[in-house]
Order: sequence, then C-alpha cells, then structure tokens
Amino acid sequence: MNPLSPSYPTANSVEDFQRNLAAVRQRIAAACARVGRDPAEVRLLPVSKTVPEERIRLAYAAGCREFGENKVQEASRKAEAMADLTDPRWSVIGHLQTNKAKVVARFASEFQALDRLRAAQALDRRLQAEGRGLDVLVQVNTSGEASKFGLHPAEVADFLRALPAFSALRVRGLMTLARLSADPARVRPCFVLLRELRERLRQDAPAGIDLEQLSMGMSGDFELAVEEGATVVRVGQAIFGARATPDSHYWPDHQDPQPASPEHEG
Ligand SMILES: *Cc1c(COP(=O)(O)O)cnc(C)c1O
Repeated sequence: MNPLSPSYPTANSVEDFQRNLAAVRQRIAAACARVGRDPAEVRLLPVSKTVPEERIRLAYAAGCREFGENKVQEASRKAEAMADLTDPRWSVIGHLQTNKAKVVARFASEFQALDRLRAAQALDRRLQAEGRGLDVLVQVNTSGEASKFGLHPAEVADFLRALPAFSALRVRGLMTLARLSADPARVRPCFVLLRELRERLRQDAPAGIDLEQLSMGMSGDFELAVEEGATVVRVGQAIFGARATPDSHYWPDHQDPQPASPEHEG
C-alpha cells in the first residue's frame, strides 16, 4: 500500500460520517494534548471536493456546516444544488483564476488561496458589486515545490501591505500545503515555517490585517499541523473516504497556464 494513501473507507451513511468526524476530532484533541493546546482553537473544515451531493447531505445531517472545495465551478454548482439547507458555508481552498472571481463573490464565505494581487482586485470588485465581504487567507508556498501555488515566504510582507486597499476582503491569516511525504521530518518544517512567518509578520501587519488563522494540515498530516499551531485543518479523505482523483489534478505543475485577461472576466 502506498504510505501516502492509507485506506480511507467511503462514508455512506450518517453514522459513518458521525464515526469519522468523531475519530478526526479525537485525533485533533490528542495532538492538542501533546502540546498543551485547547482543541476549541482548531476548526475542522471538511473538504468535500469530488464528493457527490447526496453524500454531502449525509455529512450535513451528521453535523457538518461548512465544506471546503478546491474548484470554483464544482463548489458553486453544489452550493446552488444545496441552497435548501440551512446556512451551509462554502470555503474555496484552491487556486482562483480571475475570470471566476465573480462566481466566488456570489456564494463563498471564505477563500483560502489568495496569492496574487490580480485575484484580490477581481474579488474585491465583484464583492463590492454584490455588497458582500469575504474572509480570505493568504496562501504561502512553504515546501519550495514548483508544483504548489502560493507566495514565496519572502513575498508575503509586501503582499499584505497591498491588501488594505481591497476593503471587501477580510484578511484572517495564512494557509499552506505541506510537502506531500510520509516522513514527518520533511512535512513538519513546512508548518513551522508558516507559524514563524506569521509571528514575524504580525509584528508590523497593516491595520485591519488579522493574521490569527493558520490553515494547515490535511488527512495525511493534520496532527503534525495541529502540534505546530494550526487553527484550521482541511480534512477530506479521512471524513468522506478515499478520492479516486489524484492530487496532481489539484496541484498542477504549471501555475495558471492561461492567465485570464480582463476581457474574460465578464
Ligand atoms: C483536497 C484538499 C485538501 C484535503 O485533502 P485530503 O487528503 O482529502 O484530506 C486540503 N487542502 C486542499 C487545498 C485541498 O485541495
């Protein structure tokens, strides 16, 4: 068995979801206990990408009220199909092409992958038009892998200084994807880097820029992330079951192969 893909059985009933959620929460609590943190500081964001509507409804029935989605189109389709549910919150956690900003501005309650001013600008403009605000996290590339989106750590301070101009964006913190590895000695430094970067940036963050949140950790590494200070963990497979789609589908080798031009923003 591939050590990066432990077998995650598919959750097919409300009871399955209750059991998986309880197990993940228990593991978060154990990780918190190891480092003297309060588990109430850690928000569990269930990631429902590729999961069909009927199984997301089971997760909702098991108590999930927010869902993370990597792709804008898939997320907005699901948000629309499940508009009958009371107050589900949709968090977009994947790279945003500027021509999709309009869609995100309509339905999302959070965007975790902000890493370009073009995207900030496009989102702000669309949010102002909708009369909405949006919680955002700035994505940082902590693994140094070219295949990951996110700002280089050295670019984040300047980037944050530009964000107060976009008043519809409520900056809440930083987000990262660690190196995909079964070896904690290679994964943990990514989380340490994000936390230390946050501590440094906090000292002279612009007014209105809040860096409280650290979104880091997924099914394979959330306990390490919690030990290193995560306040949000994004967990898909350990709750919903294994995905057939390979991760390379979400973290392609090329950054924004076709950058959207203003004419495409329609
Ligand atoms: C899919 C995804 C996750 C969750 O990964 P799992 O292995 O399903 O826990 C977390 N963050 C991002 C950005 C993702 O795209």
